[in-house]
Amino acid sequence: MTAKLTAAMVVMDGGGDRPVPELGGLTPLQAAKTPNFDRLASQGQSGLMHVISPGVTPGSDTAHLALFGYDPVSTYPGRGPLEALGAGLQSRPGDVAFRANFATMNPDFTVIDRRAGREFTSEEGAALQKALDGLDIDGVKVHFVHTVEHRGALVLEGKGLSEKITDVDPHEDGKKILQAEPLVPEARKTADVVNRLIRLSYERLRGLDVNKARQKRGIAPANVLLLRGPGQHREVATLKERFGIRCAVLAGGALYIGTAKYVGMDHVKVQGQTGTIDTNFDGIADKAIECIEGGYDYVFIHIKATDNASHDHNVKQKILAIERTDKMVGRILDKVRDRVVIAVTADHTTPVTVGEHTCDPVPIVIWAPFLRPDSSKRFTEIDAARGALHTIRGMDVLPTLLGYAGKTEKFGS
Ligand code: ZN
Ligand code: ZN
Repeated sequence: MTAKLTAAMVVMDGGGDRPVPELGGLTPLQAAKTPNFDRLASQGQSGLMHVISPGVTPGSDTAHLALFGYDPVSTYPGRGPLEALGAGLQSRPGDVAFRANFATMNPDFTVIDRRAGREFTSEEGAALQKALDGLDIDGVKVHFVHTVEHRGALVLEGKGLSEKITDVDPHEDGKKILQAEPLVPEARKTADVVNRLIRLSYERLRGLDVNKARQKRGIAPANVLLLRGPGQHREVATLKERFGIRCAVLAGGALYIGTAKYVGMDHVKVQGQTGTIDTNFDGIADKAIECIEGGYDYVFIHIKATDNASHDHNVKQKILAIERTDKMVGRILDKVRDRVVIAVTADHTTPVTVGEHTCDPVPIVIWAPFLRPDSSKRFTEIDAARGALHTIRGMDVLPTLLGYAGKTEKFGS
């Protein structure tokens, strides 16, 4: 009989990589000093993971659904609902949610600046939010929150809505805002509501005091709202319903928090947790320990700095992010080594030489005090290829951890 343990998962976003010429052909994981990861690899089981399936380049959202134990193909609701949940909005089955951003346009609907100067104080954001949140268009309720910079999330709540509409965002300055068109006949109403909402946002935002003040300071006014990434919230069984487990997510970005909330996880806030290299690694470790000692069954930790460094082609920064994450994992294991089954992995590969996500499988190591070790000694893309997990799919990882943690039922008698 196995004692009940907590399943912990540490994900370095975009953590997988390819050989880097600047590092003499090593990957950042190979070049980094990672004594804690390497101890896990020596004592545990390594492998490579196709997060979605072979050949598929994962987005962070679909990848996280897989890491939460879901088939992303059948459960992915589009980016909008996940961002909306992460931003603190409610999104329910039937609602259509969007990513939103303030922009600056001419009266003839030509976009001058898709980011409306990019800089927003929280007071400005609050004033702009107030002008849009709670609008009613044809019986459809508009819920809007400003998040950071020019960004926000928007949910349409009402009957007969559909996410099957075309984009209004021209995705380029100097072009006119597009009309939303229905892709299926049932989406006519949603397209009409969106088109009216865009016009209405201009009418309500252009004369606001915050915009007059911005113009006085020489900053572009936020006089229109652009919407993209529509998605319709789907009914999915939560992790609690599927496995009877309590789950916590420790993450800094709205998308990851939202994806975790979508499957019923609790967002546990950590002071100073951000998506940057200066995130509060010690604070995250201490909060994770608290969650493990507090009886959470699954604790998920997301570190974004590895992906940011990869997109910026910044090898040194990626190595630094890996080394800080390694230290964080050491801090957790120092306290609760005998209470966890832990996996360290990535949600996809983002090679620093490429600067974008790619389909290469990522390394994964699983460690528990009682696991049969394999011959891997380090946690790298190359060593992991020799490990006992061989090639594993993303959505199989959580059930594996839960099995070792003693949280799954016997199948059959
Ligand atoms: Zn990612
Ligand atoms: Zn990325």
